Amino acid sequence: MNTRRIIHRALEGDDSVLSNQQLWLCSTCYACQENCPHLVPITDIIIKLRNMAVRRNLILPEHLELARTLIKTGHGVPINKLFQKLRQSLGLSKNPSTVHSSPDALREIRTLIHSVGFDDLVGEKTEEIKSKSDNIECISEVDPDQEMEINYE
Ligand code: SF4
Repeated sequence: MNTRRIIHRALEGDDSVLSNQQLWLCSTCYACQENCPHLVPITDIIIKLRNMAVRRNLILPEHLELARTLIKTGHGVPINKLFQKLRQSLGLSKNPSTVHSSPDALREIRTLIHSVGFDDLVGEKTEEIKSKSDNIECISEVDPDQEMEINYE
C-alpha cells in the first residue's frame, strides 16, 4: 500500500483511486497521521475516500459482509458458537456484556445506523455492489466471491 500515492492521485482528481483495492488495505491505525510532521490528516483522507467509494458502490465483498453483519448483530465480528463454548468453559456467561446481551442496545444501534442512512447504503444494494466490486482493481489473489463464515445464532 502506498498511501502517499493514493492521496496524491486523489488530489490530482484521479477518481480511479476509488476503485483501487489499495484504498482498503489501511488498517486506520492512525500511526502515520499522529506522526506526520506536517499534520496531514492522512487517515482521515483515506476514510473520506472510502466513503466516496462506497457511495459509488465500490466496496469489497468482505467489507460489505462486515457492514451487513454489523447491522444484523451490532458487531462487525459477532461471537460464534466456538467462543461461546470457550467463555462457558472459563465460567463466563455465554455472551459478553455487549450488545449481544442487550436487545435494547441492538435496537439503539440499528436506530443509529438507520438515522445516518448506513442501512440504505449497504443493506439494500448487495447485488449492485457485488457487480461493481468486479471493477475494483485487485492487487492480490483475494477471491472477491469468497464468503465470510459467520456462525452467529
Ligand atoms: S493509518 Fe496506519 S495502516 Fe493506514 S496508512 Fe497510516 S500507518 Fe498505514
